[in-house]
Amino acid sequence: DDLEKINGSDSDSKQLKSDGQEMGGAWPGQAFSLQVKKTLFHEKSKYQDVLVFESTTYGNVLVLDGIIQATERDEFSYQEMLAHLPLFAHPNPKRVLIIGGGDGGILREVLKHEQVEKVTMCEIDEMVIEVAKKYLPGMSCGFNDPKLDLYCGDGFEFLKNHKNEFDVIITDSSDPVGPAESLFGQSYYELLRDALNDDGILSSQGESVWLHLNLIAHLIKFNRQIFPTVNYGQSIVSTYPSGSMGYLICAKNANRDVTVPSREVSPSIQSQLRFYNSEVHRAAFVLPQFVKNALNQ
Ligand code: SAM
Repeated sequence: DDLEKINGSDSDSKQLKSDGQEMGGAWPGQAFSLQVKKTLFHEKSKYQDVLVFESTTYGNVLVLDGIIQATERDEFSYQEMLAHLPLFAHPNPKRVLIIGGGDGGILREVLKHEQVEKVTMCEIDEMVIEVAKKYLPGMSCGFNDPKLDLYCGDGFEFLKNHKNEFDVIITDSSDPVGPAESLFGQSYYELLRDALNDDGILSSQGESVWLHLNLIAHLIKFNRQIFPTVNYGQSIVSTYPSGSMGYLICAKNANRDVTVPSREVSPSIQSQLRFYNSEVHRAAFVLPQFVKNALNQ
């Protein structure tokens, strides 16, 4: 019910018109446009409508069910924050799970941490991985890494068979309409808790405070019953609706302060990053008053 209220009716919830204008019931009364230079791929997979187009100013753009997922020009801001907030909050992440993430951008970021021994990824839609390999090479560069175990399937179902296994779990999902709907409920977060080690940390795509404050408040509220540490951060991503994106970060350890890095960002990693640094990490959790009020209710 909560999700339906937030997203509006399914029939009008998403569409990308042929002129590259993204409109939807999830953000009524507003639209975002990118000029299309050329359509590179457009097919329906078993799960969703998959489109890649070349834009005039943002490089190649991945669109699922009419909603922009990533553009070559600004994807680093989202991928770096979703990945490095939990990875740097963790003192020694060795085993990492990614749910979703088919474009490969989160995988690329996780592999920058030398202490990570194994990355498991569960993406529902093989077609997203295939188009990313072909049209988004800067994001999909990690798919041949020997540390990767790749599964194609539903993340919710995958978690049921994994207990106390991961140091960090990153949910890089699409919006809560279509295949990702199950990744926004309380039972999903209970499965995440059980799949994490005792000092485990999770991060999840946390939508925008300008558009989905009710959904975010709902996520925070039920997660406070599941995890002793629950925080919400945000950053700017120019091609997401309203230009902002949130990150829900929870930890199983009550003493773990995820709002500060617990390790130094070494010069060798920092030289590979364009958005994240330790100041950005701390600043992400400084929230405006209207957001604090909504999330503390
Ligand atoms: N964060 C981006 C955004 O919202 O714009 C989304 C990036 S995209 C890589 C998200 C991926 O999640 C898609 O490839 C989609 O196929 C995958 N996905 C959706 N539902 C899923 C599920 N239930 N289990 C695993 N992967 C799922």
